[in-house]
Amino acid sequence: MAQKRIPLRMCAICRQQFPKRELIRLVKNAEGQVSLDETGKKPGRGLYVCQSKDCLAQALKGGRLDKAAGTRIDADILSKLKEKVEHEPES
Ligand SMILES: [Zn+2]
Repeated sequence: MAQKRIPLRMCAICRQQFPKRELIRLVKNAEGQVSLDETGKKPGRGLYVCQSKDCLAQALKGGRLDKAAGTRIDADILSKLKEKVEHEPES
């Protein structure tokens, strides 16, 4: 069966692969600043986190994302991620 190739990316926290569009993308620019990339088109080095609550919660605590990015991530970005967790409907 012919299957369309789906680009997979690895979640920085659980290290599982997910289709790119299911992941939250963060981008580190040339200045080493990390921003949230909601369009998926920002230039720079991408960093991905899957939308599982566990991963987001882990990403938010203990500086896991800072470590994954190799830099300090703005509190602004982290609070946006936190909003995403909180707005996720219960399943
Ligand atoms: Zn994950």
